[in-house]
Amino acid sequence: MTSSPPATPVVEGWFTDGAEPALIAARCTACGDLVFPPTAAAACRNPRCAGEEHEAVALSRRGRVWSCTDAQYQPPAPYVAPQTEGEPWRPFALAAVELPEGLVVLGQVADGFGVGDLRVDSEVELVVEVLHVDESGPRTTYRWKPVAS
Ligand SMILES: [Zn+2]
Repeated sequence: MTSSPPATPVVEGWFTDGAEPALIAARCTACGDLVFPPTAAAACRNPRCAGEEHEAVALSRRGRVWSCTDAQYQPPAPYVAPQTEGEPWRPFALAAVELPEGLVVLGQVADGFGVGDLRVDSEVELVVEVLHVDESGPRTTYRWKPVAS
């Protein structure tokens, strides 16, 4: 009996997994400025702040659609299409979501949903889904799922 390899995130450190996944931002310890994705910025991006240390903080799991679009054409590399090899490319929807913290985070829309399920200011929730499967097993990414109202 073989056990399937565990799912791992496509990018490390951008989101947590589990029942209630959340995006991880870098917060300046001096002024509280939030940055997503949490790139290892040495100095604070706030021009009025001399802070040089950031800590990882979880962001709100729900936000409101600021804008959304259909990706009808396959983006260039290094984009990895969300399908198994040999299948035709499948269009997907992208949503820019404004979080209560004030950040706008771009992400794919959850499996099974499209722009027709979204409207500006509708509520969405963060989910983690499998983007594709490679030699190390399923690779996951965060996505925005419409919240039934
Ligand atoms: Zn700062």
